[in-house]
Amino acid sequence: MSVEPRASIVWDYAPSPEATDHLRLSERYGLFIDGAFCEPAQARYEPTINPATEETITEVAWAGPQDVQRAIETARAAQPRWAALPDRERGKYLFRIARLIQERARELAVVETLDGGKPLRESRDVDIPLAAAHFFHYAGWADKLRYGMVARDVAALGVVGQIVPWNFPLLMAAWKLAPALACGNTAILKPAETTPLTALLLAEICQEAELPAGVVSILPGDGAVGAALVRSPGLDKIAFTGSTAVGREIQTELAGRGVELTLELGGKSANIVFEDAALDQAVEGIVNGIFFNQGHVCCAGSRLLIQESVHDELIAKLWTRMGRLRIGDPLDKNTDVGAINSAEQLERIETLVAAGEEEGATRRSVACSLPERGYWFAPTLFTEVSPAHRIAEEEIFGPVVSVLSFRTQAEAIEKANNSRYGLAAGIWTDKGAKAFEVAAALRAGVVWQNTYNHFDPTAAFGGYKESGFGREGGSAGLRPYLKVVR
Ligand code: NAD
Repeated sequence: MSVEPRASIVWDYAPSPEATDHLRLSERYGLFIDGAFCEPAQARYEPTINPATEETITEVAWAGPQDVQRAIETARAAQPRWAALPDRERGKYLFRIARLIQERARELAVVETLDGGKPLRESRDVDIPLAAAHFFHYAGWADKLRYGMVARDVAALGVVGQIVPWNFPLLMAAWKLAPALACGNTAILKPAETTPLTALLLAEICQEAELPAGVVSILPGDGAVGAALVRSPGLDKIAFTGSTAVGREIQTELAGRGVELTLELGGKSANIVFEDAALDQAVEGIVNGIFFNQGHVCCAGSRLLIQESVHDELIAKLWTRMGRLRIGDPLDKNTDVGAINSAEQLERIETLVAAGEEEGATRRSVACSLPERGYWFAPTLFTEVSPAHRIAEEEIFGPVVSVLSFRTQAEAIEKANNSRYGLAAGIWTDKGAKAFEVAAALRAGVVWQNTYNHFDPTAAFGGYKESGFGREGGSAGLRPYLKVVR
């Protein structure tokens, strides 16, 4: 029997939206201070919006200077007792928080997607499991702190202020809180203005875990609340993740005040593909490197460096693959690229993309029908980019990749390092020796080989140059929260 060969298969997906009827969100959330939700002193509440629909999800209190002061006082009062607990007891609290995050994983994933616009597939499979893993990891460190500090006697710094951005709201909160608490510090966390909800659910989890009052406070609000926290006396450390511009302001503000500081800032990371790489595998890595979380990733592989001999072949493969990305409802389990986090961020992306076109780079954006409401940007590829173009230098923080080419290994290294940032890089090659040689020559905090955007709580993460200083994750992540006493 002869079978008619099929020239192509058209894969179609039925909609597969995640349910939201299991959520039990409050109509209003207060501030979380001294172990309880409370009214803000100035009674200011702001809506938090779903960026995929522009609908209000709920209202959230924004802190004012008096609330910041009260949170610092309660954190100060709680700190000696928290630090004096047997180390293993502190570890048990972190372990409980990790378990409760796992128990509430589905709810947290859906809320993260509603509040931030990221595909459910990512919040469910990356953000929430990694947040739990971070608490598990540092639960294990709580009674081994001196071994993380070359066998010296160590002590907590005291009270720490922690400011996080909107791209990985719960995960960034976990990166900050887990090591700080394991080391015996008490913490005041300020989530980003557009994504406060999972931090507030984490506050509920702290209550469920019976974490002593004052050990964690959560103060939603905008940059003014962050600035008030930074200016306040009574803190021993600020840990900031966000833009380089704000990081610079914070560093200036803290100069000479004896307050410890770590900065996790922006990036323009190079993803380097050599001619001997497995190109199909590299295409997957490029897509994951730049379209994961709509490119709202500090370490996104936003500068794609391709060896000239495979440039055209790789671009053709990449463009075909980009055409298969599914863009739309973030709650749909098949969605690859969700909504842009806010109208402001969309405007920033559009401005830089327009600059790329004006400066003469060639733009290709995936043709797709985008929803009428909400904030959206089609995955975009720029070729004919010169290193001096703004789209090669500045962080776009959106689903836009700028392609540069190189001829030799030395040129690849030079171009990759030709950036004011130094957060991450990717290398694609089938030559192990080459991968290690190039990695050693790159000025980047994380270098992935034949993979990209792979995160693990045991691995240190952080930057060089204008990408900041200090490390989060692994034993290196303990150091910014401890002082050596002997
Ligand atoms: P942002 O700097 O505008 O805001 C980050 C946080 O700082 C928010 O909570 C904001 O309210 C607060 N803030 C704003 N102004 C402040 C001020 N003057 N003083 C104190 N706090 C202030 O950044 P963003 O747009 O929210 O986030 C995107 C940036 O974050 C990108 O540049 C990205 O690369 C960076 N980022 C870095 C990492 C990393 O680990 N290196 C991780 C995620 C995001």
